[in-house]
Amino acid sequence: MDGPSFQRSLTQHQRSRRSLAGGVTSSIRAGQLPWPITFERGQGAHLVDIDGNQYVDYVMAYGPLVLGHSPRPVLDAVHKQLDAGLNFGASHRWEAEAAEAVCRTVPSAELVVFGSSGSEAVQTALRIARAATGRPRVVKCLGHYHGWNDNIHVGVPGQAEAGPGTTGQVPAAPESLTVIPWNDSGALAAALGDDVAAVIMEPVAVNGACLSPSPGFLEDAQRQARAAGAVLVFDEVITGYRVALGGAQERFGVTPDLSVLGKAIGAGFPISAVCGSAEVMDVIASGRLLHMGTFNGNPVCACAAATAVAELERRSDEIYPRLDALGAELAEIFREEAAAAGLPIVVNQFGAAAHAFVSDRQISTYADALASDPGAYRRFAGELLARGVHVTPKGLLYVSTAHEQSDLDRTREAVGEAAQTVAHEVMATG
Ligand code: PLP
Repeated sequence: MDGPSFQRSLTQHQRSRRSLAGGVTSSIRAGQLPWPITFERGQGAHLVDIDGNQYVDYVMAYGPLVLGHSPRPVLDAVHKQLDAGLNFGASHRWEAEAAEAVCRTVPSAELVVFGSSGSEAVQTALRIARAATGRPRVVKCLGHYHGWNDNIHVGVPGQAEAGPGTTGQVPAAPESLTVIPWNDSGALAAALGDDVAAVIMEPVAVNGACLSPSPGFLEDAQRQARAAGAVLVFDEVITGYRVALGGAQERFGVTPDLSVLGKAIGAGFPISAVCGSAEVMDVIASGRLLHMGTFNGNPVCACAAATAVAELERRSDEIYPRLDALGAELAEIFREEAAAAGLPIVVNQFGAAAHAFVSDRQISTYADALASDPGAYRRFAGELLARGVHVTPKGLLYVSTAHEQSDLDRTREAVGEAAQTVAHEVMATG
C-alpha cells in the first residue's frame, strides 16, 4: 500500500531531539512507530498531524478526553475564565464548584482536595492514609500503575519483578511498600498487619491489562482493610468519570475510604483530586497535614473540572451506556478483524477503556499480559497509524462521547488491513 507521508513529523521530531530530552515530553510517547508523530489539531474523536494526515483517535491523551478533543461546554467556560484570571493563589468560586461536583458524583467523596497530576494525587492520598493511621506501610498490587514517584513506581506494566520502575529511584523508598498479586484475598490477608496505612489498587486494573476485579474481591479488600485498620484507596485516575459517572466504585458498589481522580475530571486540563470520607480527610481539614501547591485548584483547571463533571452528570444516562456500547464494539472489531487476518489479538474491555494484546491465549492475569508479544502489537499500532487510526503502542484503547459509528466503520477496515500485514510479518519471521 502507498502509505501516508510522515515526513514533516520526522523533521519536527529531529528538531525536538536537539532541545527536548529524547524528543518527547513523556517517555512512553517515544514508542510510537514509525517515529513520534507531531499533531496539530484535535476535534471530537479526530486528530490531524502536521503532514495533514487525519486520524480516528483511540489514545484520547491517555484517558482524559472522555468528552472528546476540545469539548465545547468546557472550552466556553474556560475561555471566560481565561479573561478573568489564570491563578490567584487564593480562593475563588470554581474550586468550591469543582469540589461540590466531585461530592455530588463520586460515592466516597465527602471532602476533596485538588492537585495537578494523578501521580501527585496518589502521593497526597498515601500521605493522608499515613497521617490518619500513624502507620508507614502501603500495600499495592502487581501491575497496577499509580504514577512514577519513587515510593510506588514498582511492579509496573512490562516488568515481571516488583523492582523499581526506572533508574534513579531512591533505593530505600519502596522499603515500606508490599506488592501483592491482585484479586488474591489470601495474599492481601498475609500482607495486612498493624503497620499498614493503606491498601491501594486500580478497581479495574486498566494499566496491567484491563482486568476486572474477581467477584467479591473489592468487597473483601474493603472488609479486610477495615478490619486491619488500614485505609482503602481506589486509584480511579483512569476509571473515574470514564467507566461510570461515579467511577468503578459506583459500578461495583464498593465505596473506598479514599479515591484518587485525574485524567477525565479535567477533560484535558491538568487537574487531579483526592476525595474521601470526612473522617479520613479530617487530617487535612483540621490542619494536621499540610497540603500545598501553587497550582492546586487553580481557576482555569477548576473551571474545566466543574464544567466537565456537570456536563457528564447532566448527560450521564445517555453517555455511560453509549460508552459501554462503543467500547464493546471497538473490542469486537479488533477481535473479529484480527482473527479473520490470522493475527491473534486479544482485547480486554471495560466500558470506555480497553487493552489489546498480540497473544495466543486469553489475558486473565498480569502474568498473562507479560507473556504477550508487545513488539508485534507495537508494529500493529504503527500499521494502524498508517491507515488513519491512532492507538497507543502498548495496547491501551480509549473511546469518548465524540466517537461515532462512522469512526468505528473506518477503524474496522484499518484493523483488518493492519492485522493482515502484521500477521504476514509474524509468519515470515516464524
Ligand atoms: N494512576 C493511574 C491509574 C494512572 O493510569 C496514572 C497515569 O496513567 C496515574 C495514576 C498517574 O497520573 P499522571 O500521569 O497524571 O501523573
